[in-house]
Amino acid sequence: MIDEKLLEEYAKLAIRVGVNVQKGQMLLIQGPVEAYDLIRLCTKEAYKAGASKVMIDYRDGDITRMNYEYVDTDVLKEVPEWSKDKMRYIIEHKACMLNISSDDPDLLNGIDSEKISAVRKERMKANKEFQYYTMSNVGQWSIIAYPNLKWAKKVFPDLNDEEAYAKLWEAILYTSRVKANEDVIKAWDDHNKEIKAHSAKLNEYNFRSLHFKNSLGTDLTVGLIKDHVWEGGADRASGYDCMFNPNIPTEEVFTMPDRYHIDGTVVSSKPLAYDGKLIEDFRLTFKDGKVVDFSAKTNEDVLKNMLDTDEGARSLGEVALISHNSPISDLNILFYDTLFDENASCHLALGACYPTNLKGGSELSEEELYAKGGNNSLIHVDFMFGSSDMEIVGETYDDKKVKIFEKGNFII
Ligand code: ZN
Ligand code: ZN
Repeated sequence: MIDEKLLEEYAKLAIRVGVNVQKGQMLLIQGPVEAYDLIRLCTKEAYKAGASKVMIDYRDGDITRMNYEYVDTDVLKEVPEWSKDKMRYIIEHKACMLNISSDDPDLLNGIDSEKISAVRKERMKANKEFQYYTMSNVGQWSIIAYPNLKWAKKVFPDLNDEEAYAKLWEAILYTSRVKANEDVIKAWDDHNKEIKAHSAKLNEYNFRSLHFKNSLGTDLTVGLIKDHVWEGGADRASGYDCMFNPNIPTEEVFTMPDRYHIDGTVVSSKPLAYDGKLIEDFRLTFKDGKVVDFSAKTNEDVLKNMLDTDEGARSLGEVALISHNSPISDLNILFYDTLFDENASCHLALGACYPTNLKGGSELSEEELYAKGGNNSLIHVDFMFGSSDMEIVGETYDDKKVKIFEKGNFII
């Protein structure tokens, strides 16, 4: 079992650094039933920080699967008005949101992909308003992880149940910089400063495009939107005007691609868990900013359904750079979970952009942002394509070429 003190530190990280709940603010925690111990600690920490009210949404993976097995698609995809009202309540009260992620990468294996994507689409449509609330950083939001046995056994198949579970906890806490006898808040202050220094450098270069190339077969040019902003680490939320850390852990710096200018082929370097299934060894070919060809070794139909979500699902909303030698990739663990794997590898996201990656982007309407080259979609799905031999060359507006990555690592 995990040490109670470490779990308390982890809760402190989630509440004080992750969502950074403010005095008098409401907090919604969404998490799996298995994480009740962490959720109780987070609730206590939030009240100590001055939260006015903490609301909990429990979910249960086994029951999610049962619902897909027994409930008709038409019923399952229905989003009741009261559940939309609940989200409106969160927005109206400028509440912050903590999501405790604990996925079984194979949760929905064997369930019809069409059914899964039909349900997902309806839920995402209903969530559109809410997507804006988080992606535009109006309210603070944060995702942290909690282990479960199925996930642990997927990551450590050679260990027995108990060892695998303990090892996954260890990996989660290590990558989240939670250590015994160390101040987690100070550790994250330092970490955020380092990330900011990196994004500042990239902002200074103000690249027009990035060219990625490696031996897996990636040969891709990603245009960057004019007046883009590189971000990473802590972000500012406009609702309560305070800082927060959306992802724990995080190592990335990221910005907004120009949805008109993405050309070439990208090959995945890690599996992607989506719709409760794993998409492995896939490649996407872009022309003028759109995926025109794709293939995958496993679950190609899941990839297809994802790309068919809407028009924007075939373009990119994020490009993120991470050195191959980062604390997470140095662990050399495949987590089968994007929250971790994306921080061990350069990644791209299919779907919606973050408005804050454009100067003044948060003040633009959806249509204005789209016209400027920012992508719009119901989905935002990160996938990993970084490798130990990744080369990245940036091109500036005065046609200078600057090498940014050599052998998988930042050299600027
Ligand atoms: Zn990212
Ligand atoms: Zn992303």
